[in-house]
Amino acid sequence: MNQPTPKPGSRQWRGVIREYASRLDVTDATPIVTLGEGGTPLLPAPALGRRTGADVWVKFEGMNPTGSFKDRGMTMAVTKAVERGAEVVICASTGNTSASAAAYAAHAGITAAVLVPEGKVAMGKLSQAVAHGARIIQLQGTFDDCLDIARELADVHPVHLVNSVNNDRIEGQKTAAFEVVEVLGDAPDFHFVPVGNAGNYTAYTRGYREDIQAGNATRMPRMFGFQAAGSAPIVRGEPVRDPETIASAIRIGNPASWELALSARDETDGYFGAIADERILEAQRILSAEVGIFVEPASAISVAGLLERAEAGQVPAGARVVLTVTGHGLKDPQWAVRRADGTEEQPVVVPVDTAQVASLLGLGA
Ligand SMILES: *Cc1c(COP(=O)(O)O)cnc(C)c1O
Repeated sequence: MNQPTPKPGSRQWRGVIREYASRLDVTDATPIVTLGEGGTPLLPAPALGRRTGADVWVKFEGMNPTGSFKDRGMTMAVTKAVERGAEVVICASTGNTSASAAAYAAHAGITAAVLVPEGKVAMGKLSQAVAHGARIIQLQGTFDDCLDIARELADVHPVHLVNSVNNDRIEGQKTAAFEVVEVLGDAPDFHFVPVGNAGNYTAYTRGYREDIQAGNATRMPRMFGFQAAGSAPIVRGEPVRDPETIASAIRIGNPASWELALSARDETDGYFGAIADERILEAQRILSAEVGIFVEPASAISVAGLLERAEAGQVPAGARVVLTVTGHGLKDPQWAVRRADGTEEQPVVVPVDTAQVASLLGLGA
């Protein structure tokens, strides 16, 4: 397929498939579907270092084209689907997968069908699926019900499933670990991630493992994954029928990659923990106010998890820690303006009067 490509040597990031072609299952003939995903910033967070004594870095996955890490897996899943001749991709989603599938399908000129739990998807995410022209169906059930139906349909109809049970998704997502190793020169001591279906937890572990095999890294980080307390099946050791949390991206009661995640935990001397919603929102505020990174609630659980583990004495001083924050704060902005009592933060209103503005800002007369 003759595709327009950036000029050789251009500094524009080419998306994870072109950047890591030798480490993914693609050939010169693969019809790459990319929106330039990956190459996201890994930012030092000294404010979190002061709070925990660790050397903390934040992998800001909200900087992907549709605002979440899902794009890394979706470029690969849609590319492979198109390579196999698919005209329709289908997914179940708490929001970000549908936004990503819709965008990549639009770019490829194919159809995305998305199944979402009724009334449970943040407006920012739903608006993306609408804007990109997805066929959206709200199910009167949970995410887990949506995934069951998507799998059933993909089994018997010519529709291609692009949930993270699709190995192409995990393959694309492993590239985030490659980027971390490139920036730091080795794997960190700890890597903290939010956990929903546990696909990303699994993907990072695979990426680090491959980097060790390739001689790029010398060690495996301890993989620490976090679920919301009201939606913590892996921590509890059993599915949760009606998961509840404000962190809608990880409101999942029966993770698709559960078994893979347990073996990844064992392989990495890892850990799964549960965090209460109030702690998640507190961590979201700390990250926006002290580091300058605005993330959606589910993403802030990495920060909350670090604060909790450090308090428990489980993160040695000076340990190098990477936190993946998975989605942008603009996806689900309502929580940032909500006060503890449920009312909304309203910036002060004044007449058009310089003196009044000066006085409110404490600038004197
Ligand atoms: C999908 C998603 C997660 C959960 O990732 P899994 O691979 O399902 O564990 C976490 N945060 C955000 C913002 C997501 O979109």
